[in-house]
Formats: sequence, C-alpha cells, structure tokens
Amino acid sequence: MPEGDTVWLVAKHLDDALAGDVLTRSDFRIPALANADLVGRSVLGVAARGKHLLMRVEGGLTVHSHLRMDGAWHLHRPGTRWTGGPDHQVRVVLSTAAWDAIGYRLPVLEILETAQEDQAVGHLGPDLLDPAFDRDEALRRLGSAPEREIGQALLDQRNLAGIGNIYKAETLFLCRVWPWTPVGEVADLGALVDRARRLLEANKGHASQSTTGDPRPGRDHWVYGRAGRPCRRCGTRVSSASQGEPPYDRVTWWCARCQPGA
Ligand SMILES: [Zn+2]
Repeated sequence: MPEGDTVWLVAKHLDDALAGDVLTRSDFRIPALANADLVGRSVLGVAARGKHLLMRVEGGLTVHSHLRMDGAWHLHRPGTRWTGGPDHQVRVVLSTAAWDAIGYRLPVLEILETAQEDQAVGHLGPDLLDPAFDRDEALRRLGSAPEREIGQALLDQRNLAGIGNIYKAETLFLCRVWPWTPVGEVADLGALVDRARRLLEANKGHASQSTTGDPRPGRDHWVYGRAGRPCRRCGTRVSSASQGEPPYDRVTWWCARCQPGA
C-alpha cells in the first residue's frame, strides 16, 4: 500500500503535468461517473491529503481518488503506449494537450464539490507532510485512546495521516518501542511523531523508500520485511507477527532486543 510520501509524489507529478492546463479529454469508466464530463475545465492543482489525492478543476469540482493497495496514476505523452495495466483496469483518463493522466484500479474515484472535500478527507488527522502540520493535535488524537496498541494507533489515519505499514514498523524500531505497547505507556509519543515525520519528509521527493539512509535494495529498511534476518543494530533475528483484528490486521516487524515488550 502506498504511504503518504508515495501519494505526495504522485500528486506532485500530476500537479506538475496538469496544473494550469485545460482538459481536452474526460473519460470516466466507472458506472457512477459514466456521464461525467470535465472537458474544457482547467486543472487548478493536484494535492495529497494523507493518502488521498485531490485534483481540483475549474468550476469548484474535485476529482477525489485513493490508491489503496493497488491503484496507480500514470502520465503518458499523447500517442505513446500506456503501461499501467490492461485496458479493463483503466478507471479514468483525463488529458490535456500535453499529457494523458490515466487512473488504474482506483478503488475510490468520485467527483465532489471542492467546498465539500471534507466529506472525503475531513476525518483525517493532521497530515505529516503538511508544512503546517499540527503536532499538538496529532498528539492529542493519539493520546485519546491510551489503551490502544501503538502499532495500530499509528496506522489509524484519523490520528495522523500518512503513515503506512513501512513507516509504522521503522518508526517504532528507531524509537525502540514494542508495537504492542499501549499508547499511554509510550515514554515519548512526540519523539515517535517527529521521527515518522522526518522519515516521510526524507522520502517524499523520490520513488524509492529508504529509512536507513541507504537506498540499495536489501539495505533500505531496518526491520520492515526482514523477518528472521539479523537486526542491523544488535544482530538479534527480526521478529514478525500479525497485529490487530481482521480485516484490519497487518504484519508488523520488530527486534525483540531493541524493542523489548512488557
Ligand atoms: Zn536489535
């Protein structure tokens, strides 16, 4: 699942390509939007809000999409081959004179009034990649359920927006916090939030994600995806287990020595 930094970069690429230009093609391929037509409207801009994408167009409309596990936006020059998947996975094509923007497999795709965007993203907590990130509010929301496991609380986009499974596991490792620690027993919640924010910031400008500072495959994460391999800090084998109740259970990774449990 793309995390906040990935969605931020998708928004930036779409914004760089489309903002300021008029839509010359509008082809929504989902029943609910079969009659939607945005041709002739300028794209005002594309922004990420947590893991949500908001494309604002002239006339007070917003194309809201979410990538979830498998969705993607691709940009191609007109007349070049599209590479994001078979045609039946295309959910929308929005073109300008210079670019085709193709949305593949988007599980969430809707057109909202821009003034009503809060219906889609109003529940989100403070966005870690927002320059005006409200740290106090994020801490207040996290702290409002002190008995909740921190590994789950960090993933809950209502607390703070942008963290997915990678940054959850890596942030907890770097701060030496066991994923099952109740939020109320985390010694320094602020340090966790600050660390997550720095990781996302450091990764938002490029496609690869590294939390170690080393972009090479196999060296780019501390514990994420490394079950059974030696901890980079202490050599203990990295543990993994499912956390949370279905359907919200996710795998987490941790070092039992660096992140000792209760
Ligand atoms: Zn360790």
